Amino acid sequence: MSTPQRITHLVAGSPWQGTAERTSEVFNPATGEVSGVLDLASADLVGDVVAGAKQAWQDSWRSLSLAKRQAVLFSFRELLNRDKERIAELITAEHGKVLSDAVGEVTRGLEVVEFACGIPHLLKGGFTENASTKVDVYSMRQSLGVVAVISPFNFPAMVPMWFVPVAVACGNAVVIKPSEKDPSATIAIAELWREAGLPDGIMNVVNGDKEAVDALLAHPDVKAVSFVGSTPIARYVYETGTSHGKRVQALGGAKNHMLVLPDADLDLAADAAVNAGFGSAGERCMAISALVAVEPVADELIEKIKDRMGKLRTGDGTRGCDMGPLVTRAHRDKVASYVDAGVEAGADLVVDGRDGAFDADGDGFFLAPTLFDKVTPEMSIYADEIFGPVLSVLRASSYDEGLDLINSNPYGNGTAIFTNDGGAARRFQSEVEVGMVGVNVPIPVPMSYYSFGGWKNSLFGDSHAHGTEGVHFFTRGKVVTSRWLDPSHGGLNLGFPQND
Ligand code: NAD
Repeated sequence: MSTPQRITHLVAGSPWQGTAERTSEVFNPATGEVSGVLDLASADLVGDVVAGAKQAWQDSWRSLSLAKRQAVLFSFRELLNRDKERIAELITAEHGKVLSDAVGEVTRGLEVVEFACGIPHLLKGGFTENASTKVDVYSMRQSLGVVAVISPFNFPAMVPMWFVPVAVACGNAVVIKPSEKDPSATIAIAELWREAGLPDGIMNVVNGDKEAVDALLAHPDVKAVSFVGSTPIARYVYETGTSHGKRVQALGGAKNHMLVLPDADLDLAADAAVNAGFGSAGERCMAISALVAVEPVADELIEKIKDRMGKLRTGDGTRGCDMGPLVTRAHRDKVASYVDAGVEAGADLVVDGRDGAFDADGDGFFLAPTLFDKVTPEMSIYADEIFGPVLSVLRASSYDEGLDLINSNPYGNGTAIFTNDGGAARRFQSEVEVGMVGVNVPIPVPMSYYSFGGWKNSLFGDSHAHGTEGVHFFTRGKVVTSRWLDPSHGGLNLGFPQND
């Protein structure tokens, strides 16, 4: 057993040199061993980091030319691409997801960096010549100052990169508070910014728990907060942050449904259900956890899913397995307790992940893929976000019944319809009350130049992540009305200005 590594904050581009009053353990979920001891930030330290970030923003970044900012972004893109595998290894070591999935996560984050490289175009304002006689009007978007990003454990690279490249490109300074369960990939990525030429102080990482989050939410110099995590915490962050006068986007939990119509290609649907249900051990905010089969397809579809599940290999993410462990022992036990509850509530347990075999050494946090049939809406395996490899099949008698079920759910992050009927798909995309919709695509994560975000309890606030909504979130608009003197100007007029 190797000695746990100290993991600390990144302040103004360098590892923090202080001594933490509180620490927490970071685990390798595949072995169950403690791999790191993480420094947790006090409110005072958060205050110091925010002050340094504000100073750096005022001294340099806010007024640096767009061409110079863009050069840093291009350089950061190259460095991230160079270190993709190294960062993926850090993700697998602390989160547990298999290496290929971790590489995919970094790649999706890289797409946001590429989007942010186009910042000069994205920040272009409008110009109206002669809005009034010899009066021009033009608009601009300016940076906010210090912004905070608070991220969850399930995408330690991609989720911070939904926000950070756009915030930096827009001219802000950033303080990131990663999940205390798997902070190392976030820190490693943040370190690359200095190498890319970002001035010290513009990129900072504070590790911590509620104390650090509360300090960020209350600090008057933090102007905006981008949060991603579970719904109760997202609601708390939104309400607390806005009560302190901040701009907040708080992305919450999910219960994503896949609606399979009788005319669907059932092989495609079965592949999709298994990939989207069990990829990353179901710990994706866009995972499919409820499959709604419109009869008469349920029996045939379940057989196909069961057949595919039999071929999956669960184990250590570095060994070429299909699925890794859950993030902590407590989370593994919570997910297993939902399987117990599903059985007790009368759902049909078609495949029991509690009996699974695992390709790993040590005492990892494993639970194999699990499939329930004949699940009903009042059962906790349907009503709650389990966030594990548990797929529930609900049977519906019609498209309308399936749609009602989805629209009655309090979450609205992602959903997908599987059908060969273009009219049905078109109706679904219009009628479903969910923020991201797939048509024969099970995990419809938008490209970086669109915006990511759910509806209802899956997002609090008005702005989705990245794309033009991200640029708007991290900037403030200003409109200038201007007249330059020429020989015809002048004269007194105390009336309200009107166009002439
Ligand atoms: P979490 O809510 O436990 O933690 C998220 C962040 O909040 C972490 O940085 C954590 O340190 C902090 N936090 C935890 N408790 C807090 C408290 N009491 N006060 C203040 N801050 C607190 O979420 P998680 O378990 O890390 O991540 C999984 C959740 O995130 C799931 O619900 C998942 O659906 C959601 N998620 C949503 C999206 C989306 O796009 N909507 C994306 C990824 C993850």
